[in-house]
Amino acid sequence: MPRLTVNGQAIEVPAGTNLIEAARVAGVEVPHYCYHPGLSIAGQCRLCMVDIEKAPRPTIACNTVAADGMVVSTETDRVRETRKSIMEFHLINHPLDCPVCDQAGECWLQIYYMKHGLYDPRMTDEKVHKPKAVPLGPHVILDAERCILCSRCVRFCDEITGTGELGIFERGDLSEIGLFPGKELDNKYSGNVVDICPVGALTDRDFRFQVRVWYLETATSVCPGCARGCNLEVHVNRRRPHHAEGRRVARLKPRFNADVNRWWICDAGRYGFGFVDANDRLLVPTRREGETTSEATWDEAIAAVAGALRRLSPDEVGVIASPRMSNEDLAALRRLLDICGVQRIAAGVPVRAPGDQDDILIRADKNPNSLGAELVGLNGDARAVLGAARSRRLKCLWIFEHDLLASAWPAAEVLEALNAVEMVIFTGTNANRTSERAHWVLPAAAWVERDGTYTNFEGRVQRFRQAVEPLGQALAAWDMLGRILAALGEAPAATRAEHWFRRLAATVPAFAGLSYQSLGDTGRMVARGVSASS
Ligand code: SF4
Ligand code: SF4
Repeated sequence: MPRLTVNGQAIEVPAGTNLIEAARVAGVEVPHYCYHPGLSIAGQCRLCMVDIEKAPRPTIACNTVAADGMVVSTETDRVRETRKSIMEFHLINHPLDCPVCDQAGECWLQIYYMKHGLYDPRMTDEKVHKPKAVPLGPHVILDAERCILCSRCVRFCDEITGTGELGIFERGDLSEIGLFPGKELDNKYSGNVVDICPVGALTDRDFRFQVRVWYLETATSVCPGCARGCNLEVHVNRRRPHHAEGRRVARLKPRFNADVNRWWICDAGRYGFGFVDANDRLLVPTRREGETTSEATWDEAIAAVAGALRRLSPDEVGVIASPRMSNEDLAALRRLLDICGVQRIAAGVPVRAPGDQDDILIRADKNPNSLGAELVGLNGDARAVLGAARSRRLKCLWIFEHDLLASAWPAAEVLEALNAVEMVIFTGTNANRTSERAHWVLPAAAWVERDGTYTNFEGRVQRFRQAVEPLGQALAAWDMLGRILAALGEAPAATRAEHWFRRLAATVPAFAGLSYQSLGDTGRMVARGVSASS
């Protein structure tokens, strides 16, 4: 472990650490564009110059490994002057179109100019012009004039996805980023190049011009798109509700977690939040009698469901829960079914096509909480539940989230099952063909509208936090289940998701010892070797 000093501060870093990362240990930020800890070193932007004692001239920190006894200075006059010159060089041909640039407010050219530039421009010649607003693929658009040729996007496509769509073409001040002939930037992780582009050259076609970034608020979260559970930031627009046609969730951004997704997320997860503000959101409880559907109050809906559970024998009730439900929802459901004695329980249902999977992040299981459902003991056979409904052994079938008519089961069999049951209850966020056939529809809050946890495929329990208010009268599933429990005579309903997580930790051995506090922002693993609910 080499020991060195950075700006007079003695530090010790692991062998092989470069000087940008070593300076971070000392709490010192070395400005840089091309360096990214997830990519190879390019040494291209030259901005990370530092002075090293006995070195004749400033040295780039990204490509210099910390050594024992090194004395590093990041704020000498010579380094400051060098940085300023490099900033001027990077901005020579830049269009300086910040007022109309979607990156404004989170652009490292702006930030570093204010911190390390602040020179008076000397450029009087006509600037070099390059292609503007070029779609590179379904998600990314290029403004080549804003590009500083840091090559992060090129290295991402070469080193992370291995798809190699991008390159730097031409020479000198005509150099520009572009696609190789016949290629399109359409790999499954293409949105990450927008995150790592330090300037406004690559912008997100879904997000650009929707809302200025300084109006956004952030909540830490977890992607519900597959069993990986990539860590996210949810950026929401509350301050300018008239922007972006009322879309509250403006974008999802990856959040670094060394044990899960590092710096990246896939495009399916990144752009998979459209259902949150979609027109088919379920907003109020509804009841269907014959062909007539009418709105109901939560009190009426809770009373109807509690009444059915009280009236029917446990054998006459079947439940198809969902591995899309949070651990807290599943804990509340488990409690409800236990006190009612219901045994016909399942979680997953077959989907039409098996999901894709790769060696980067994407998992074939498109549910965020399959392992959580298994650990809570809600992993029965959905086929058996549906079979019981078809053979008229069930009087009540409660379906969470699933559109059974979009599953791999023949639609005729599903319809037969739904028509054979006296009372179909649907709990979910969005309307679907199954909810249309339900007698009671209980609207559920989407994952960004409530707190909770998922357990990923490796057993990491991770928190997601509320970013926006639930739409309409939607409730978190744990909340509505708690109200039904209260109607059945259990203790008053919990008002926080954490209540159910505490119960989980107390009753399911795999979760023993975990708490919201101990999960922190990056999660904790469930206990190994224990898988059954007590
Ligand atoms: S487009 Fe962005 S990431 Fe790519 S080389 Fe240019 S500045 Fe770097
Ligand atoms: S890999 Fe899975 S969890 Fe990660 S962003 Fe994609 S869909 Fe979401």
